[in-house]
Amino acid sequence: MNNLSLYIHIPFCIRKCHYCDFLSAPCDEETRQKYVDALCREIIQRAEEFQNRKVDTIFFGGGTPSVLSAEQMEQIVSTIRRHFQILSDAEISMEMNPGTVNKEKLETYKKLGINRLSIGLQSADNEELKILGRIHTWENFLQTWEMVREEGFFNVNIDLMSALPGQTLESYGETLRKVLALKPEHISAYSLIIEEGTQFYKWFGEEYEGQSEQVVQGNATDMNEALSIRKSKALPDEITDRKMYELTKTLLEEQGYYRYEISNYALKGYECKHNIGYWKRKEYLGLGLGAASLISDIRSTNITDLQTYLEVGNQKEETKLSATDQMEEFMFLGLRMMEGISPTEFEEQFGQSLQEVYGTQIAKLEKQGLLEFCRETQRYALTLQGIDVSNQVFVEFIQ
Ligand code: SF4
Repeated sequence: MNNLSLYIHIPFCIRKCHYCDFLSAPCDEETRQKYVDALCREIIQRAEEFQNRKVDTIFFGGGTPSVLSAEQMEQIVSTIRRHFQILSDAEISMEMNPGTVNKEKLETYKKLGINRLSIGLQSADNEELKILGRIHTWENFLQTWEMVREEGFFNVNIDLMSALPGQTLESYGETLRKVLALKPEHISAYSLIIEEGTQFYKWFGEEYEGQSEQVVQGNATDMNEALSIRKSKALPDEITDRKMYELTKTLLEEQGYYRYEISNYALKGYECKHNIGYWKRKEYLGLGLGAASLISDIRSTNITDLQTYLEVGNQKEETKLSATDQMEEFMFLGLRMMEGISPTEFEEQFGQSLQEVYGTQIAKLEKQGLLEFCRETQRYALTLQGIDVSNQVFVEFIQ
């Protein structure tokens, strides 16, 4: 029986960032405790189905898991340890944000066996952090960083974002250099995407595209706010965005980080095992509000309504994946990784050859220079050009 991964969702933050569309919100202490109790009930209930499975990765994501108190984290981790078989060398990761941790919490994480931290920095420029709506400054981050190292965490990721409002190639380069000077073991670097339903969508979305700064009936205040923010904090153009992306690769590779997934870089041996599991379609059980799972050929998502979760308990929506769905996922998730996908593994999993199923698409992408076969590894992987237009490549494998 294959090992299992656990994902635990903590849907709380100090306040909502302007670009964020994750399932997260601020809430009071009483709700947080009720949530931890409900989560523990779900952990106990779901564990029954997985008695014979060994867990090799756990990921606490959010939200901001570090808003929970040390005791609340202790309650969750001890419930997991009592009801699941956790391997002694399991990777146990936790997301945290500067301004939400102290020495006591870090000591507790260590004691609980949490051995990988992921810190949401996003930018080292305080103006950029402000427009993102982050609760912290670069200086706050540095204090957190020092504590993290002092407490003996040496498998740490720093999250960064590029293409931010008001960001220049120089300011982004400065962020990269400052972060590299700290020598974290892992860096995730994503480009900002303006998602619907966020504050950024109101400011930078399509609604006021091409409008001039003038009073319009009804939404005059919103529109004027959006136009004035756009004027003072413009989004970088496509060429600058592209240069930022190239700068990430150049600077990080110069410092010995290698890119193992489109947006993820690590020092050798510090890749995130849990996330690799997602890209390789390993089975994982998601626990907590809105958490997703992949067990056998079923993808499921927990309910997203907090009150129902607290009062009634979890309900989940399930989708049974057809063989075609699974093959598609194998392709577009697997190709996110720089090592690419193996035709042998495809055939072992699906009983059909890769050529038979996707021969036409592969030939087309190879001709366009977006995909290549490596004789040494016997795998197909995106070329550098293919990475640049990865979404265009992935669409080829979706019916
Ligand atoms: S800290 Fe993260 S999860 Fe929370 S609001 Fe900001 S981006 Fe969203």
